[in-house]
Amino acid sequence: MKKFENFSEWFDEIIFNADILDARYPVKGFAVYKVWGFRIVKNILEILERKLDETGHVPMLFPVVIPEDAFARESEHIKGFSSEVFWITHAGDRELDKKLLLRPTSETAMYPMFALWIRSHADLPLKVYQSVAVYRYETKATRPLFRMREFLWNEAHTAHKTWEEAEKQVREAIGIYSYVFKRLGLSYLILRRPDFDKFAGAVYSIAFDAWNPDGRVNQIGTVHNLGENFAKAFEITYEDVDGKHRNVVQTCYGFGLSRVVAAIIAQHSDDHGLILPPDVAPIQVVIIPILYKETAHEVNAYAKEVYETIKSSGIRVHLDTTEDKTPGEKFYYWEMFGVPVRVEVGPRDQRERNVTLVKRVGLQRRVVKFEEAVTAIRELFDEILRELEERSNSVLKEFVVDAVDQLSLSEIVKLKRRIARVCWCESLECADKIRESSGGEIRGYRFDIEEKPDKPCIICGREAKRVVYVARAY
Ligand SMILES: [Zn+2]
Repeated sequence: MKKFENFSEWFDEIIFNADILDARYPVKGFAVYKVWGFRIVKNILEILERKLDETGHVPMLFPVVIPEDAFARESEHIKGFSSEVFWITHAGDRELDKKLLLRPTSETAMYPMFALWIRSHADLPLKVYQSVAVYRYETKATRPLFRMREFLWNEAHTAHKTWEEAEKQVREAIGIYSYVFKRLGLSYLILRRPDFDKFAGAVYSIAFDAWNPDGRVNQIGTVHNLGENFAKAFEITYEDVDGKHRNVVQTCYGFGLSRVVAAIIAQHSDDHGLILPPDVAPIQVVIIPILYKETAHEVNAYAKEVYETIKSSGIRVHLDTTEDKTPGEKFYYWEMFGVPVRVEVGPRDQRERNVTLVKRVGLQRRVVKFEEAVTAIRELFDEILRELEERSNSVLKEFVVDAVDQLSLSEIVKLKRRIARVCWCESLECADKIRESSGGEIRGYRFDIEEKPDKPCIICGREAKRVVYVARAY
């Protein structure tokens, strides 16, 4: 498949042809979400936000600007982000007395307000989310959807009474993201980042790294336990039942919408174009009448009847009645947009009151009775999602390769463009050498399962402490 041979070109063609994104906007790293891409984003958000609501999070909207002094309050945080923030320094030709920055992430926008809102233990837990764009001046080459200077995400921020409650929250967040990714059929590794790569200001960071056809991993979500670091910096305290004042313990997590769209395209699509999981497809079913002169009237009327029935079931359906394209051209067109199920309605279907269903994945067809169409389509949706998930999982399995020595490490990551699994002693010197010889990064060790090293450190030969995954990354 072309996507495994020339990923960039294949990917750019799909996002252009399927109206996902137009990267020709005249500011580098900024792009326009077009109709198909933005509808997919909205459908993903609907699944995510509903799950956040169900688990006691509340939506809010904080300003995009952050004052310099708030940004500078947590020392690790400012160190991590200062090189990539956009500053606002002027209004007209007057210089602002207080410089402002565009949020690169919203801890320092939210937490001064948290300090005002949280008074007693009764105010906790506080669980807030927002779906917004954030701004980071990426210095590496920008890539549409993968690495942009303005990108869409959903970020959640929580405050708790104790470390244990924050730990529970971390697990809840991982559960929420896993649930959404499952409905998208995505495959990824859940990794605890090494300390040198954790979020600036966090105690530790967990990340979801999705596989990509070019061997680079794509971080689609992160979950951080912030401990009391920000509570101390922003003086976020509560009065406990015993009358004592204590720092809150915080978590935050980010769901990268732009990158999730990239992962859906990269993992599922093929040489015909986009393939979409049914839950997020802007159009889930397209009906294409197959018309011949003698029967056109009857077939059109029947297609309309099929359309009304499917539509009234709540499925997002479109009846393609355009006259300037042949049925074959219509098939090709909607395949490119990744519509999961095509319904063909021809003279024979009309005579026998059947419909012909064709799946976008694999393009298999089956004929079902009109009365059974809606049930059959829903079954196909489940089947499609299962197939996407299985296919994606098997690629991930194939992509992870054990490296036994430095030579094989370099071969796996550089030459074969895969994810290497290696034993590491946790020393920074060996991490540097792993980076040098592979051209990739230590992405971390598995969070969801425990893997015990069965070999010495791949670099120094001393006892290994962790089994880690090494890959190049977006
Ligand atoms: Zn070592």
